[in-house]
Amino acid sequence: MQSGSVTVTLERGAATLVFKHVPAQVCDNCGEAYVDETTTEHLLAAAEAAVDAGVQVEVREFAAA
Ligand SMILES: [Zn+2]
Repeated sequence: MQSGSVTVTLERGAATLVFKHVPAQVCDNCGEAYVDETTTEHLLAAAEAAVDAGVQVEVREFAAA
């Protein structure tokens, strides 16, 4: 596994959110990316907030704040 970043797309209802440069561990063999639990929680929380704000499609840089 190597540290890297991936693009994650989440769909929630009518909203589609694309997060770029999400930190992940990437498998040396098959290239599959694993995003850790804390990062996943940030993504899901951001997705929920976007849905509440009425976002339909958005592309953003991942920010671990
Ligand atoms: Zn693998």
